[in-house]
Amino acid sequence: MNLRHEILLIEDEKNICNFIATALRTQDYKVNFAGNGANGLAMAASGCPDLILLDLGLPDMDGIDVIHSIRKWSNIPILVISARTQEKEKVDALDAGADDYITKPFGTSELLARIRTALRRSSINGSTSVSARNRYMAKELVIDYEKHIITVDGEIVHFTQIEYKILTFLARNAGKVITYDTLITHVWGPYADSNNRILRVNMANIRRKLEQNPADPQYIFTEIGIGYRMIDNENL
Ligand code: CA
Repeated sequence: MNLRHEILLIEDEKNICNFIATALRTQDYKVNFAGNGANGLAMAASGCPDLILLDLGLPDMDGIDVIHSIRKWSNIPILVISARTQEKEKVDALDAGADDYITKPFGTSELLARIRTALRRSSINGSTSVSARNRYMAKELVIDYEKHIITVDGEIVHFTQIEYKILTFLARNAGKVITYDTLITHVWGPYADSNNRILRVNMANIRRKLEQNPADPQYIFTEIGIGYRMIDNENL
């Protein structure tokens, strides 16, 4: 049985393609290339890759449109490759349904870690493992979604309803960057004020209850200007 993960790389810059291909092949991933958006979409549909690495600046179309198009029919993990100057594009890409982004220039180990996380999350979401679906665990933190119980180091910690909603949404998407807008919409609904002050207030309270040192969090990380990312679920 062939269990090699297949990755589709949609990127027009040759040197980046070569760099990524070399990194992926050392880990035994199978890599296919598309040099523009149209070919990328065709290959995504025909090849059913396990993950897509997508450059946002493509010669023929906007990478965001590639994401919209794929999300109409597939939940395949999409990891966006963006330039440092594309802050707004990162948020748009995540809101369009990308799973994560990596900023150029990036190193091999960072790239591989992001890919592993995205593949793992997609296998959990598609898995029938009751344990993986009902429970989140990382370091000293355990969230039991069924019983609505959260413990840190064995002690039950109480959260308000809003805090619980924020925390469990991040936990269910552990490893993935969740934008401020996505989180606000999930917790307060689509007509909520997109001003994120109330979110920041709630996050400060969550961190005060969760983190040993809220100024140096180990469970929920801030992606400045973009959103939050919760540490990976270790319950696999
Ligand atoms: Ca490009």
